[in-house]
Amino acid sequence: MPELPEVETVRRGLVAQVVGRRIDSVEVGRERTVRRTSAEALIDGLTGVTITAFGRRGKYLIGSLDSGDGLMIHLRMSGRVLIAPTGAARPPHTHVVLHLDASDQRPAEELWFVDPRTFGEVVVFDPSNLAAELPELAKLGIDPVTDGLSRAELTALLRRDRQLKALLLDQHVVAGIGNIYCDEALHLARLRPDRIAASLTTREIGRLHRAIHETLAQAIEAGGSTLADTQYVDLEGQGGWFQLHHRVYDRAGERCLTCHRATIQRAVIAGRSTCWCPRCQH
Ligand SMILES: [Zn+2]
Repeated sequence: MPELPEVETVRRGLVAQVVGRRIDSVEVGRERTVRRTSAEALIDGLTGVTITAFGRRGKYLIGSLDSGDGLMIHLRMSGRVLIAPTGAARPPHTHVVLHLDASDQRPAEELWFVDPRTFGEVVVFDPSNLAAELPELAKLGIDPVTDGLSRAELTALLRRDRQLKALLLDQHVVAGIGNIYCDEALHLARLRPDRIAASLTTREIGRLHRAIHETLAQAIEAGGSTLADTQYVDLEGQGGWFQLHHRVYDRAGERCLTCHRATIQRAVIAGRSTCWCPRCQH
């Protein structure tokens, strides 16, 4: 599933290529993608409207529209947002198409929402009614990149009797971190994933704080991670390359690249497959 760095990479593409453009028309092929409202609501809410900004909170893309509405896109498991010339052959599972106007710099283009597994969503919402229309978005925790996540804020969030893995994956606590970046950040911080959060020392909290920011920044720099079993690509169809830098994720049974001595372990922690080095993280 795309996590913060992958969604941030898509957001940057949208800012560069879509912000400032008007949506001339909208096609909805699959109702499941717009299940929260309806095809009519999406078409009515987007036709003739200009996209003025694109932000992100956690794994949610949040567009601002000159109508005053918001546009939420969630990729979930397999969603992709792609830009293509008008009339280009669409890939299978293209469920929503936004026809973007031509500008001085660009010809008319299409923005596609492609989603083979159909867990993803595209929704027009009223930002002043967020808690009712998108309750999970209203309840998101601190986003380490969009909001910053200071060391003091992390210290406060860690005062809980929960395993680090469970706590960092909880989107109500920290928004945007999923299985890949949780395992990678905990390895960089040299902390066991099943460690109880409230037991961390001040020095360990400092290590975790630096590791979260460093891992996410490097992953964004690399355009995210594109794994063999996921469909993640950026707006122009290019994969990321941070998977080449993974130290523990999906490396169970292999030698640790940091200590060169221990073998990466795998276990189910907090209900999720978890990889760590028993020597670096003990
Ligand atoms: Zn190691």
